[in-house]
Amino acid sequence: MTRLLVNEVAPRDGLQMEKRFVPTHEKISFVDALSDCGFAKIEVTSFTSAKAIPALADAEIVMREIRRVPGVVYTALVPNVRGMERAIESGVDELNLVMSCSESHNVANLRRGRAESLAQLLEIVREAGHGGVLCNVSLSCAFGCPFEGDVPPDEVARIALALVAGGAAGVTLCDTTGMADPLGVRRLLERLRGVLPVEATTIHLHDTRGMALANALAALEGGATRFDASCAGLGGCPYAPGASGNVNTETLVHMFECMGHATGVDLARLLRVAARVPALVERPLANALLAAGTRDRLHPLPES
Ligand code: ZN
Repeated sequence: MTRLLVNEVAPRDGLQMEKRFVPTHEKISFVDALSDCGFAKIEVTSFTSAKAIPALADAEIVMREIRRVPGVVYTALVPNVRGMERAIESGVDELNLVMSCSESHNVANLRRGRAESLAQLLEIVREAGHGGVLCNVSLSCAFGCPFEGDVPPDEVARIALALVAGGAAGVTLCDTTGMADPLGVRRLLERLRGVLPVEATTIHLHDTRGMALANALAALEGGATRFDASCAGLGGCPYAPGASGNVNTETLVHMFECMGHATGVDLARLLRVAARVPALVERPLANALLAAGTRDRLHPLPES
């Protein structure tokens, strides 16, 4: 069975759009609790301007004060050169850069065209590389754009190839607004075979339309081995209409483990962390796995 890698993104993709400003010390203890769950990578925060994402205005303090567990890569979202400088000063292990596969989404989200974004990101990849810091690039709308509809796999391949050729360590294919379907996932992965090494490819799914697990399975069957997911299913993109929660980490890990794949994630521990998330964001969250328990939980026979 394949060894899968799971990246936890709730502290960034999850908390960025929450109404409640989660106090800094609570963010730090959330990341610290996740650090003990066996993730390959944790996306800790975002070095965006505090004006753009007030929920993560404390990026420096959080990145500096989390407890580092050896073997876990601590990454952060970085939108520009200034963000790169702040992130590196704060001791980030890896940078997660972002651009969109769709021209209109890129303009709406980043206020510039894709060509300009690509040139800027390649500059950041080079700069960060001088300091020995690796960059991953998250490609928004890789499976569809809320403004343009279908995004041709050739476009995704073109951008991914340019980034990897320019020194990016990896690329994340993001279903930013939950537009992917299993067949589309398979097609994109087939198109990228030979362009992007499997180990440099991450799949990032949102459950906007309830298809995230089906898409994860399609990605797994298409050869993907690294997945982003969000504890308690927190998440969404503040700039993408209709975007809602990321694929729920507990549910994703549970499915993979039921299928016999090792993820390295301690599911029992993760479920205890997930149970505390509604208090963290001060709103109720539906959680099927917490409600039902894992499938190996047995019940006593009803008395006859
Ligand atoms: Zn996302």
